[in-house]
Amino acid sequence: MLVVMKNDATEAQVQAVIQQIRKMGYRGVPMPGAQRTAVCIIGNKGPVEAALLLAMDGVKEAIPVTKPFKLVSRETHPESTVISVGDIKIGAGEPVIMAGPCAVESEEQALTIANFVKQHGAKVFRGGAFKPRTSPYSFQGLGQEGLKILDKVRRETGLLIVTEATDHENLGAVEKYADIVQIGARNMQNYSLLRLAGQSNKAVVLKRGMAATIDEWLMAAEYIMSEGNRRVILCERGIRTFSDNTRNTLDLSAIPSIKEVSHLPVIVDPSHAAGRRDYVIPLSRGAIAVGADGLLVEVHNDPAHALSDGTQSLYPNQFAELMKEIERLKQYL
Ligand code: PEP
Ligand code: MN
Repeated sequence: MLVVMKNDATEAQVQAVIQQIRKMGYRGVPMPGAQRTAVCIIGNKGPVEAALLLAMDGVKEAIPVTKPFKLVSRETHPESTVISVGDIKIGAGEPVIMAGPCAVESEEQALTIANFVKQHGAKVFRGGAFKPRTSPYSFQGLGQEGLKILDKVRRETGLLIVTEATDHENLGAVEKYADIVQIGARNMQNYSLLRLAGQSNKAVVLKRGMAATIDEWLMAAEYIMSEGNRRVILCERGIRTFSDNTRNTLDLSAIPSIKEVSHLPVIVDPSHAAGRRDYVIPLSRGAIAVGADGLLVEVHNDPAHALSDGTQSLYPNQFAELMKEIERLKQYL
């Protein structure tokens, strides 16, 4: 249930409502909006008796929330959320481009790619220090050393950093160096990791699980938000289908679906969706056209020798071309 406060309700009245909700055995989370504040009730297993709350000063109305995800739902937060990280805004209309290699391989590799993508308009550098690999024998990432390299990339280029935490053991180290913590597709339902990310003060990119429905994905985002972290960015990265011509099948319909039911921004990763670099530009165009708030793209200075995901990594000149195409598309947004 959403308790909507009157436009002129005071902070003390909002706090009194939260207190009353606590007495009823639930939690009240304030949802500040452009016009007025509302308090979302979470933790209830069934319908909430609204009479006591409706009688309180400053309360306008109580609206039942029909979705199982509350904080993530547009029902509780009708305006689209804009997430600020450093000086960038995700969800504000301008697509935000996050680009870089699949994995941080060396300082030279990371800095070369970072300088290039920055020069062409990327705002965030991506690169895994901890890599979730299908095979235990594949390159697992440089770990702590990779994080140090990312730190240097931030200092030298001014780019923000998004990098993945693969388990609750490395989340603490990752959040020290990252501006945005990535939770990967394989971990979308790792509930202890989601809860920990919810306690972080860093923004989170939550990738869609390979076989996750939209509702399951949004419930995963709810885990993070229910712990207090409101800065969740959803990332569609392709799902498993019978179609085997691409690594995964990019579900572009997820973007309008999410926009309908949730206020959270959603970005698209065309690289892991396609698994091949020649599809990345067309899929990116599609993503921007259907309303994605940004892209997460793999780029490598020497894809043939990349330690992971070389076949889907753009050559630098292809990234430059992608950025030109996005610039062209902006006039239609
Ligand atoms: C990644 O972005 O490097 C990654 C491993 O992605 P995903 O979790 O989508 O497979
Ligand atoms: Mn990758």
